[in-house]
Amino acid sequence: MPSAAAPIRYYSSRDEARNAPATFAEALLAGLAPDGGLYLPERLPRAKAAWHDAGDPGELAGGLLGELTSQGASELTALMRRALDFPLPVVELQPGTYLLELFHGPTAAFKDVGARAMARLMDETLQRAGRNATVLVATSGDTGSAVADAFAGFANISVVLLFPRGKVSSVQERQLVAKRPGVRSFAVAGTFDDCQRLVKGAFADPELAGLGLSTANSINVGRLLPQIVYYFWAVARVARDHGVHEPLQVFVPSGNLGNLTAGVMAAGMGLELAGLSAAHNANDYFVRYLHDSAEPYDFAASVPTMSNAMDVGAPSNFERLFALHGDSLRGRLGSHAVDDEATLRRMRLTYQEYGYLACPHTAVGLEALARQRAATGDSGPALVLATAHPAKFPDAVRRATSVSPPAHAGLEAIMAAERSFEPLEPTQEALRAALLDGSRTAP
Ligand SMILES: *Cc1c(COP(=O)(O)O)cnc(C)c1O
Repeated sequence: MPSAAAPIRYYSSRDEARNAPATFAEALLAGLAPDGGLYLPERLPRAKAAWHDAGDPGELAGGLLGELTSQGASELTALMRRALDFPLPVVELQPGTYLLELFHGPTAAFKDVGARAMARLMDETLQRAGRNATVLVATSGDTGSAVADAFAGFANISVVLLFPRGKVSSVQERQLVAKRPGVRSFAVAGTFDDCQRLVKGAFADPELAGLGLSTANSINVGRLLPQIVYYFWAVARVARDHGVHEPLQVFVPSGNLGNLTAGVMAAGMGLELAGLSAAHNANDYFVRYLHDSAEPYDFAASVPTMSNAMDVGAPSNFERLFALHGDSLRGRLGSHAVDDEATLRRMRLTYQEYGYLACPHTAVGLEALARQRAATGDSGPALVLATAHPAKFPDAVRRATSVSPPAHAGLEAIMAAERSFEPLEPTQEALRAALLDGSRTAP
């Protein structure tokens, strides 16, 4: 039933006075707040007890996110069922140790959850407003393919991807240039930083104001909120399917900290957890911050690792976490930093002990769990978020286990798809011309 309370507004993480709140629709379409901050809801509604009985993630999303998105529950359920049309299974490695597999979507990583849900929310919002949007994304790999796949084919949304030519892996490049309706891919003669600079410049370009430019990276609250849902989903599945009703310790493979922020928000909505921990690779700023050996925002340059979707030196969602809880984060969250050697060892052990093939990101989470258990002697039930399918990282999986991962149908389809991309010089003028040209000739 629609709530009688005033709709929840969104304020910028940089607006301490909370003077300029936006509606959900405004926050969704804008991406970033006008002052450069990240949007946060002014309050988190308590989850109603009925969440435990939801039959599928779409229904659960409809029940949990109605107030946050100012949508009716049945309408939202229908939208989210179309977005989350793949399973989110909980796997038992051994009694008390569970994995939530978030990688059964079309591009084989958990980013499909947020991107597909956000695409439906955006389409709905644009239709209501009678508007069109151009989603512009600079990508060095995984985000771009999830966003392109999720936003392709909506009549009121065009997608423009910028990637640094020759600087992403060949598998990633195949995913970025797969021909999709409504999607244009530009191979930029430059670096990832050039791509990001071009995107920022386009947002500030008055000549492009008519295109309704928007972003779909993890700073957008429309990608963040749907990720709250699977924390509730996992807890309900572990209780129903495995009879475990004690609160769980949850471990989150982390880079930009979007996934972890969603977990913090789930707890804020009343989900009872025994603990929530960030599992990082060698890009360990947040671990050092939580252990009191780094100041807020004292970020580091990123370093390459085998869990490359987590190679983030300056996690953008730190700003959101800090706005929510300040330095009390240090008492609320656990954290571990896992290097590549320990990641490979954990991949091998997980296969030897349980016959389970984990991707390097998931293995970082599993290693964090093992370390926590060893350090505290706590053997309570625990859940690790499994963020990518092993087929996305066949070389690492073979190196760790000597086994080739099974195929992922969505990935196979993308690899076989027709390709389409255009070259782009790394200048603001070239991007402007390409965007204006596309807006005239788009079907
Ligand atoms: C993006 C990504 C992460 C990190 O998620 P954040 O929300 O950025 O912390 C972890 N694992 C995989 C496979 C990813 O693609």
